[in-house]
Amino acid sequence: MSPVVFCKRAELREFLEARRREGKSVGFVPTMGALHEGHATLLRRSASENDVTVLSIFVNPKQFGPNEDFSRYPRTFPEDVELARQCGVTCVFSPSASEMYPDDFATQVAVPKLSGELCGRFRPGHFDGVCTVVLLLLNQVGADRAYFGLKDFQQYVVLSRMCRDLAHPTEIVPVPTVREADGLAMSSRNRYLTRQARALARTVPLSLAAAANLFRTGERGAEALLGAARRVLADVGLEPQYLELRDFESLEVVSDRLNRPALLAIAQPIESDGVVRLIDNVVLSDDGFWARILDDLLSRTR
Ligand code: AMP
Repeated sequence: MSPVVFCKRAELREFLEARRREGKSVGFVPTMGALHEGHATLLRRSASENDVTVLSIFVNPKQFGPNEDFSRYPRTFPEDVELARQCGVTCVFSPSASEMYPDDFATQVAVPKLSGELCGRFRPGHFDGVCTVVLLLLNQVGADRAYFGLKDFQQYVVLSRMCRDLAHPTEIVPVPTVREADGLAMSSRNRYLTRQARALARTVPLSLAAAANLFRTGERGAEALLGAARRVLADVGLEPQYLELRDFESLEVVSDRLNRPALLAIAQPIESDGVVRLIDNVVLSDDGFWARILDDLLSRTR
């Protein structure tokens, strides 16, 4: 069945209130559209765990910096609705900017302790924009569960802390990164990559895999692990914007030995038609959930 499309929050609320009166559970997947298999995985997961799945498509102006790609961000609404249908989505919420942010909108939500790290250093205000829109959407949808991809690991950490700190009733569910056959993390921005840039982009997961392989052989020294990743990038002339090891919960720098799961995170600008900034990560850990994600990365980068 085709999903119902809502542009007005009052209509969405009325629809969902009726479903809730019937005792239905609600899953929610917020996106900016230009959907790919990564988004589809979140949608299928929600559809399998909830009676009703809400997909939001909103290119949020508040999370783009002045020199970022807001105006040229890909918009593929008809294809998105078709993919949503195939994934079992019940309704699509696609509000305008003025529906989300009326002229007198005056609130900003922030998690400063976590937002200034990693991507936050290079995208000032980005996570404040993300927190503001996601809290607003979570309040509008009132879902039992909301699904977020670990491709945007810092976003997941920031949003789960926001919900925990503010006692938000929606459960935040992390979903492993979905990768192309050669290991590149799927992203709406990958479509900006020229053929040459796409070939080079493969180095990003390869660099993470080099560190992950070393980790699997027993290496626990932060510098050795970072060095392995850095060498793979340097071999093809790439210099990351950042490549860091952080605690997977607090995002504090890990500079010595790893004794808890550690996030290895990278942002790598790639020259294409303009610069495309790729982000990726893997958690170095032998624990079940994280180890399976690491296995997936390694199996695609052999
Ligand atoms: P976006 O439309 O880029 O804002 O992403 C919407 C949601 O999809 C976010 O929770 C992302 O983390 C998630 N997502 C994007 N790409 C992937 C991927 N390759 N694997 C898993 N989740 C993803």
